[in-house]
Amino acid sequence: MTGGYHSARDARGDLTLDADVVVVGSGAGGSTAATELASTGLRVLVLEEGPRVLATDLGKMRPTESLRHVWRDGAMLVTVPLGDSPAINVTMGRCVGGSSVVTGGVCFRTPGAVLSRWRDEFGLLEYTPEALEPYFLEVERHLHVEEVPLSLRSRSTALFAEGARALGYELQPMRRNTDGCNGCGRCNFGCPHQAKLSVDLSYLPRAVRAGAEVWSHCLVERVEHRHGRVDGVSGRLLNRPGSRAGARLRVHAPRVVLAAGSWHTPVLLKRSRLGNERHVGRHMTVHPGFRMLGRFDAPVQGWKGALQSAWSDHFEPEGITLTSLFLPTGVLGATVPGAGPEHLQGASKIDHLTVFGGILHDEGGGTVHVVPGREPLVTYRMDPRDRARIPRLLRIMAETFLAAGAEEVFLPVLGARGMDADTFRRFPLEAVPASRLECASQHPLGTARMACSEGLGVTDPNGKVWDLEGLWIADGSIVPTSLGVNPQLSIMALATRVAQRMRG
Ligand SMILES: Cc1cc2nc3c(=O)[nH]c(=O)nc-3n(C[C@H](O)[C@H](O)[C@H](O)COP(=O)(O)OP(=O)(O)OC[C@H]3O[C@@H](n4cnc5c(N)ncnc54)[C@H](O)[C@@H]3O)c2cc1C
Ligand code: SF4
Repeated sequence: MTGGYHSARDARGDLTLDADVVVVGSGAGGSTAATELASTGLRVLVLEEGPRVLATDLGKMRPTESLRHVWRDGAMLVTVPLGDSPAINVTMGRCVGGSSVVTGGVCFRTPGAVLSRWRDEFGLLEYTPEALEPYFLEVERHLHVEEVPLSLRSRSTALFAEGARALGYELQPMRRNTDGCNGCGRCNFGCPHQAKLSVDLSYLPRAVRAGAEVWSHCLVERVEHRHGRVDGVSGRLLNRPGSRAGARLRVHAPRVVLAAGSWHTPVLLKRSRLGNERHVGRHMTVHPGFRMLGRFDAPVQGWKGALQSAWSDHFEPEGITLTSLFLPTGVLGATVPGAGPEHLQGASKIDHLTVFGGILHDEGGGTVHVVPGREPLVTYRMDPRDRARIPRLLRIMAETFLAAGAEEVFLPVLGARGMDADTFRRFPLEAVPASRLECASQHPLGTARMACSEGLGVTDPNGKVWDLEGLWIADGSIVPTSLGVNPQLSIMALATRVAQRMRG
């Protein structure tokens, strides 16, 4: 096998390939596992549904274009709310490099308290901070994880930090996988400067040098298996102008690694009738996220600086993590409430706006249902404890901006106008129905969780699917609980461990 990048768009007719290992999905988990496996001389094939988009092309795209080319479904996927839950807009990347291409670059190790829960509830006894240290060190080295310097902190984040200090808590600097970041703030649309070391830049080139083949535009639909053993995967070739629609893909391989992400790995398992039915596609956690806008008297130009640079775990005992963020000016303008002249007046002040975000360390309320068509239907029933935390989170963020001198705050509540301090403090946040809350997630996890016994999860502690020889999972779906912090580093450390155990 000669390493390289291929597109199924160039194939004529059906495509049949073979390999020692086939990896489905080229995101954070898949690229890491593929690189580890290829470096030992195995013939590795990576299959990716989305296109391969080079950094030079990302730089030429407007944010709306990049939404179409590298984000899944133009970032329009939404969970179906059950009970007293908001609808959650869940976003993912769909390209070579997966969601890693559109991250803010934020890197956190798995918190010790989360690992301790994994040991207690899922019997993952080897998951101690000490035992995982070598995997994190390896990933951090390849990703060039570094602390964001104060000079790259945006004015928007600096104002939130001032408010936090006034209220008695501090922001801490974040670590990101960057090298040479100039603070242009485009991270979520793919870094045009190759400064954010997403896996398409940091991992896949090494896999290819070691002989791996990366095929884009390949949609895997099924894991093939016979007599309790894996026999590769099958699916379809996508987007082939001028060619027969629906040309077939068949890959023969004795080992398969699923890394299609928490939204799609359970779809593949269900379509292939694999995995413990009580757990496949269930327990999805998402880190429900909310943003708060503040309006200041003086211009802020909050888009200047690293998209994400500071955070706080001060409220972690309440299941709340605060993280800096910003929105592209076009999206920010559209977010300003009101219609007609009122909206125009608000939007004309976008250089006075600040943004901050917060996520909930949630319990797994999501379930993936396979339905006709490409995308599954995902329901999410928010745990009452998490639901009760939403007003608290919004209050913390609004009071922090007000303490920094904001004239108005804009809540993520549909139909709510900007509010000064008095109006905000009178606003009945607890009475806002879930259907009016604007909630987003970038972190679906846990739909094929690992555990020490077949009754508790879908894979064993090494990521091997319990009921089939030759099938492993190396993506966010094996993460058994929410983390309370951004997950890419945890997923990559776990994927490194899965690949090394496969080799072993
Ligand atoms: C906008 C955004 C910002 C984020 N920012 C951060 C951050 O700053 N820090 C952080 O830690 N995390 C961040 N995340 C989350 C992080 O990117 C993900 O948790 C992580 O990439 C998930 O890794 P994964 O391998 O599970 O899936 P992904 O990286 O999503 O990769 C899955 C890949 O599989 C492909 N695929 C799916 N189904 C199939 C199929 N049937 N056949 C072939 N291919 C398939 C998909 O197209 C995709 O490319 C962010 C996510 C988003 C969307
Ligand atoms: S802020 Fe830094 S990492 Fe993000 S897109 Fe700009 S240069 Fe790349």
